[in-house]
Amino acid sequence: MANCSPLALVVNCGSSSLKFALFDTSLPSPLVDGLAERLGSDEASIRFDRNGTRRTTPIVGAGHQQAFDALLAFLTEHGLRDRIGVVGHRVVHGGERFTRSVEITAEVMAGIDDCAVLAPLHNPANLVGIRAAMAALPDAGHVAVFDTAFHQTIPEEAYLYALPQRFRRDFGVRRYGFHGTSHRYVAARAVEFLGLDPKDHGLIVLHLGNGASATAVSNGKSVDTSMGLTPVEGLVMGTRCGDVDAGALTYIARRAGLDVDALDAMVNKESGLLGLSELSNDCRTLEAAAAEGHAGARMALDVFAYRIARTVGALRMPLPRLDAVVFTGGIGENSASVRASVIARLGFLGMHLDEDANRAMRGGTAGCVSRSGRPAALVMPTDEERMIACDAAAIAFADAPVAFSVFSEAAE
Ligand code: ADP
Repeated sequence: MANCSPLALVVNCGSSSLKFALFDTSLPSPLVDGLAERLGSDEASIRFDRNGTRRTTPIVGAGHQQAFDALLAFLTEHGLRDRIGVVGHRVVHGGERFTRSVEITAEVMAGIDDCAVLAPLHNPANLVGIRAAMAALPDAGHVAVFDTAFHQTIPEEAYLYALPQRFRRDFGVRRYGFHGTSHRYVAARAVEFLGLDPKDHGLIVLHLGNGASATAVSNGKSVDTSMGLTPVEGLVMGTRCGDVDAGALTYIARRAGLDVDALDAMVNKESGLLGLSELSNDCRTLEAAAAEGHAGARMALDVFAYRIARTVGALRMPLPRLDAVVFTGGIGENSASVRASVIARLGFLGMHLDEDANRAMRGGTAGCVSRSGRPAALVMPTDEERMIACDAAAIAFADAPVAFSVFSEAAE
């Protein structure tokens, strides 16, 4: 009975935003989704999308708690609130402690708090969302889904930095990796789409959005990834630099007189596509400018693609076999030119672009963009909210049969 199915609410709290989606556990698309943004300011507002209709309401000065109250008021108005059986909370950093999604207890909250030193902008905001949701929905189950958890299968030789090990012991300095929920979801969908053996496959997943990371997945497990202790390491991103000589940073700090905070802001907010192009962090803007002859935009896109292809080369090494390179994220799903530029550099893998298929692939569609043969180049839309809802439902409704799976036909 579809109208009696428990609902799974997904909550993703950023420092000044609250993103949400409400799923019926028997239906593929969310019943409601939306975003409260600019929280804590006079411009705070909350947007609801339901059945193709959008409603945006100002919530002047609202913080996370008030935004959550506005969300619940909307859900009450539409008769949905009482059907919420579980809330899935996105948590950015789970450190070494959280290797999978877990039901939230006082102990788990203390653990998330302990990991806040590793993600000082994100984990405290995630905890605010968890507290608000638990207070408002005390009878629902609450589940934490961690960005880092999927990568806890990466072996020590891949996650250690060659730094004095006392920093690992004392401060937890090692590579953790991020975007784990997206990589896990996309890898599972790719296995299903390509008809691969869940116990014998190899994939390299490229999550290319404002943040960007690449993960080598062997038989459903992350074996290496491009991000590290923080999401700055690895690929070139919108405003983050990705891999850079640590010596270059100390050199710049000395020459330009930057302190640690200024250096942190430079690598996080002023670098990447923005720093290279001196124009924009946005791929669409850069593609349009490059088409009109903007040399900086062209060069930024070339560096972006080159680094992605080089990372694919590096991540090929730990995989016993490679069945596909999978593109996802705003850029991976939509930019035919970035995909073409990356695949053109992957001839050494025996991969060749199918230009027609590539041009046609955008806006949430899945399919191969390489000529037949393996490894394939595949586009697979990500859906982190759906993955979080799946985990939350699987944990909270473990005893009940739930028609809710990323692998089910209903997901299409
Ligand atoms: P976030 O990491 O913030 O979730 P997204 O996954 O939404 O980011 O990706 C945002 C990026 O996707 C931006 O650089 C944007 O320009 C790019 N993008 C979105 N649509 C297109 C498109 N049609 N062509 C090229 N790039 C696109």
